[in-house]
Amino acid sequence: MTTPRIAFDLKPTGQPLPEEERAAVLANPGFGRRFTDHMVTIRWSEGRGWHDAQLEPYAPLQIDPANMTLHYAQSVFEGLKAYRQADGGVAVFRPEENARRFRRSARRLAMPELPVETFVEAIDLLVRQDEAWVPGEGEQSLYLRPFMFATEVGLGVRPANEYLFMVIASPAGAYFPRGVHPVSVWLSEEYVRAAPGGTGEAKCAGNYAASLAAQAEAANHGCDQVVWLDAVERRWVEEMGGMNLYFVYGQEGPEGGGRENVRIVTPELTGTLLPGITRLSLLRIAEDLDYATEEVRLSTEDWRRGNEDGSITEVFACGTAAVITPVGEVKSARASWTVGDGGTGPITMRLRETLLAIQTGRAPDTHGWMHRIAD
Ligand SMILES: *Cc1c(COP(=O)(O)O)cnc(C)c1O
Repeated sequence: MTTPRIAFDLKPTGQPLPEEERAAVLANPGFGRRFTDHMVTIRWSEGRGWHDAQLEPYAPLQIDPANMTLHYAQSVFEGLKAYRQADGGVAVFRPEENARRFRRSARRLAMPELPVETFVEAIDLLVRQDEAWVPGEGEQSLYLRPFMFATEVGLGVRPANEYLFMVIASPAGAYFPRGVHPVSVWLSEEYVRAAPGGTGEAKCAGNYAASLAAQAEAANHGCDQVVWLDAVERRWVEEMGGMNLYFVYGQEGPEGGGRENVRIVTPELTGTLLPGITRLSLLRIAEDLDYATEEVRLSTEDWRRGNEDGSITEVFACGTAAVITPVGEVKSARASWTVGDGGTGPITMRLRETLLAIQTGRAPDTHGWMHRIAD
């Protein structure tokens, strides 16, 4: 059975933010504080399926106190970015991958699955409409936040029979406005993010709610971020906060020779890790740059010993928001150590710059990752 293509009703605002005010926002966008003039909404209900797709002015929602999401958290989301291209156009990084992951997240939470084409079309419409909100400086971007939640009213515990899908957009500044600098991490042995059979692979709101106490604990130990270990043995390294992790073994020679001595390693997807699109892309980019790559199980002991004997030279985290963040210091209840010299490693920076060059159209898009929206 093929689903008929959904038609969007376009209702642009008559009162966009005045140009000078928008320019003031774009001059210092921060992250996730200001939103563009429009949003996309699509409804789903039992029986009717997806319907009532609209591009409309950004506005608050009215929510019934017995809205099922408020009580039982059927809520999933995505995060992706539109970048101003070197030639002045706009392109979104791998939106079909986000669309597919969004479907998998929805399935895990017993929610309806939005067709990939509809997800991508919703993004196209919003970015095209609010193109003037895509900043143009360096690593700036327009952050896109698709999400879906239950809208049925009632306290019975079961999958809701009504949902709302939305996309909103927010201009984002460079994650490191004063240059890339390493973070310190706390290995969380008390709290876990995800357990086998749980929702770790799904990008759902509840995973984030459950992570906040651990993040606060990391801060109490003077660390910037929490590192998640597996729930069963509290031994295998999984992720850092809302980002995936990478470990660099070995180093290159002074003139870029000896790449065969370098291995770029990331924890394998066991079902409790969130399969990041940045993680996936970096596996390809590392291969393009002639580095060997590996997906493995890596323990906290492997990490400590690797830094002690010098075999692990660099560690970094990756995700849409920061692209790549180096890790400089590691702390746990029992040990603390430094990664390399505690600074930002050369391979970390090379990977970061290579990915950003593709995203901003400064390097050829050899993998067909950029989804062009405006010229
Ligand atoms: C979103 C997310 C990531 C990173 O995914 P990207 O697609 O690279 O942005 C990693 N870990 C968690 C827990 C996440 O929620």
